[in-house]
Amino acid sequence: MPSLSHRFARAALIVTCTTLLGVGLVAARREPLAAMRSLRKMFPAWHLDAVLLFGVVGVLGLSFLDLLQRPRQTTASPPLAAAKPELLDALTGLPSRAAFHDAISAMLAAGLPGGLLVMDVDGLRTVPHGDSSSIGEVLLQEFAGSLASLAPVTSHLARLRGDEFGVLVPGIDAATLQSEAGLLLRGLSAPFALAGRRFELPVSIGAAMLPDHGNSFEGAIRAAELALQQAKAAGGGAYMFEPALASTVEARSELRAEFRAALAAGEVVPYYQPIVDLADGSVAGFEVLARWHHPARGVLAPDNFIPLAEEQRLCAELSLSLLRQVIEDARNWPQAWTFAFNASPTQLRELVEFVRDPTQVPANMLDPKRIELELTENALIKDMELARDVVHAMHRGGVKVVLDDFGTGYANFLHLRDIPFDRIKIDKTFIKDMLNDSRTEACVRAMLALGASLGVSVTAEGVETEAAAARLRDMGCNFAQGYLFSPPVPAAAVPQFARG
Ligand code: C2E
Ligand code: CA
Ligand code: CA
Repeated sequence: MPSLSHRFARAALIVTCTTLLGVGLVAARREPLAAMRSLRKMFPAWHLDAVLLFGVVGVLGLSFLDLLQRPRQTTASPPLAAAKPELLDALTGLPSRAAFHDAISAMLAAGLPGGLLVMDVDGLRTVPHGDSSSIGEVLLQEFAGSLASLAPVTSHLARLRGDEFGVLVPGIDAATLQSEAGLLLRGLSAPFALAGRRFELPVSIGAAMLPDHGNSFEGAIRAAELALQQAKAAGGGAYMFEPALASTVEARSELRAEFRAALAAGEVVPYYQPIVDLADGSVAGFEVLARWHHPARGVLAPDNFIPLAEEQRLCAELSLSLLRQVIEDARNWPQAWTFAFNASPTQLRELVEFVRDPTQVPANMLDPKRIELELTENALIKDMELARDVVHAMHRGGVKVVLDDFGTGYANFLHLRDIPFDRIKIDKTFIKDMLNDSRTEACVRAMLALGASLGVSVTAEGVETEAAAARLRDMGCNFAQGYLFSPPVPAAAVPQFARG
């Protein structure tokens, strides 16, 4: 923390200078001659000039220095950081981890409660490799600037490491901390424009209350980081620490350590969910959904391991492994069946490189016409230029592209106009509520009309009842997928879907 005497001396100096200047100016305005006379009695003429000059220069100089030394207007630790440059982060100008350590320790030592937020900038991992050093750094600076303007004025900020930032808010209660975290999430999700491109940097936030969740710097950071990991595993947002988290996160870190080996050992396999042509009820193809046959934990759904694959940049490897297995599984299946693969935002760049490099294409490759790539709106919107690259590269390779989870993301008409998708997949949340809610049904109708006018087919996912399938058929939906027809099944159960 900045030393109290240092701060006091500065304040006293500013007050003295301001008073002298004020006295001089007021006296000069009111009764110039009388004032001069009385002041001259106290000071010789040159002394008076010097006092006034000193006052003006002093006030301006100190204010200017104060501005320069304040890294961001909200941090409560700039004087310390200014005194010790190593306590400032060179890239962003925010206080460093060491400065944050001091702030938390001082608050706890003073017996004061407070709230801690630790946040991670998720989007930076998707910044293309080639420009990551320059664009990534500028984005971090932009992010730090936004954080400083959005954080509560009483807070201490810091760049903790890489793309991780901390916010310490003394004296805040848990409910207010959570609403502050929500405000930060919303404020920081505004896109950044840089070098003619648009970047969205979604953040995940872990929250902890001090001293309840940690009564030392290490304890507090650990609690907030556990909550952060939970937020990330849930796909982003903010999460408040709770004691049970430790075991959940521990289990996940065990899985993380095992995942790479599991992929190599063939424990991660494709499951197949049929996509049905609503016109005649035939199976047109399958969505390929990954499952991990874990030796101890049983069959794990993708929510348990896709985030781990993303963290370790293993999504491309996962897709390639699934593709190889699908090629093998499908050798004796009907040639008309198509296979739709899912891709994470983190693997888009690798996908472009993959289709451009013929040496990477597995032997006995399926006819590309039988392959579809499902991309979510949010994956694409982060970097429109990359999105267009991916779609064009796929089209050149003969692969179709599906806009997945349609209706739940941020896509707008501009994106629909500019990116030539081959198919739209309406998200299951709409299909679930459609029959009981006329507004939801109106949205589904609008999405179907949009597909028809764009000339692309539409698939509805999450179809669980005959009634929903019949309504969709009547509304002109082309394809459907859902538990009504079949859950995702292992390869051995697929031949039953072949006709006659
Ligand atoms: P998604 O692409 O939205 O996949 C559809 C999800 O809905 C699947 O969940 C599927 O099992 C489930 N589902 C199917 N029919 C119904 C139904 O009638 N009702 C309901 N409530 N749900 C239904 P799953 O298999 O757990 O996959 C979750 C997500 O994981 C997928 O969402 C996809 O985004 C991701 N994913 C799956 N496999 C891969 C993969 O190989 N790579 C990547 N990057 N992501 C994958
Ligand atoms: Ca999908
Ligand atoms: Ca979906």
